[in-house]
Amino acid sequence: MKLIFATNNKNKLREISQILNQKYELLSLKDIGFHDDIEETESTIKGNSELKADFINQKYKINCFADDTGLEIDYLNGEPGVFSARYAGDSHNDEANIKKVLQKLEGVKNRKAQFVTVITLILDDKKYFLEGIIKGEITEQKHGENGFGYDPIFRPEGYSETFAEISAETKNEISHRAIATKKLIELLNKNIVKDC
Ligand code: IMP
Repeated sequence: MKLIFATNNKNKLREISQILNQKYELLSLKDIGFHDDIEETESTIKGNSELKADFINQKYKINCFADDTGLEIDYLNGEPGVFSARYAGDSHNDEANIKKVLQKLEGVKNRKAQFVTVITLILDDKKYFLEGIIKGEITEQKHGENGFGYDPIFRPEGYSETFAEISAETKNEISHRAIATKKLIELLNKNIVKDC
């Protein structure tokens, strides 16, 4: 069964292909000839995830899923949230985004934060939302070189290192995206088994 992942991020696509039942043929947006950006106009992570899945489902009339992720910082009332990629401007500049967060939290004791991923799956006209959350805190300065985005300043609960210091294997086991993805895979693989 053909299933579209509304992304052109090769890493995300490979990660999911490797653990998905072979009866699903996972395709990216490029694979179906869609090369534009889907404008994310909603005010919540769930809303933007749903918007992308709806857009592709309605345009191509095909089963699909989309994901959206954001960093929510307690002291900043959930910011940067939906603006995580473009917090310091439209340029998707990780360095500038981190700098802005650290400046806003200068001298602040409450540094609690969480990463949230919501995957929206549209399968045979039914809609499912799969959520993954990891709690942690924002460090006072950057630590580590691995990963991307806010990894150098996010220390997950129960760890003494940031996401940018722990191995990719560990991050891929415990992260927000991993939690949501596991729920998606479980649901898809169960669905196939049920259909057999
Ligand atoms: P996206 O919805 O997966 O494109 O994520 C939006 C933004 O959230 C990214 O541009 C990053 O700034 C941030 N982000 C998402 N996932 C992670 C992560 O695992 N580590 C650090 N930052 C992330």
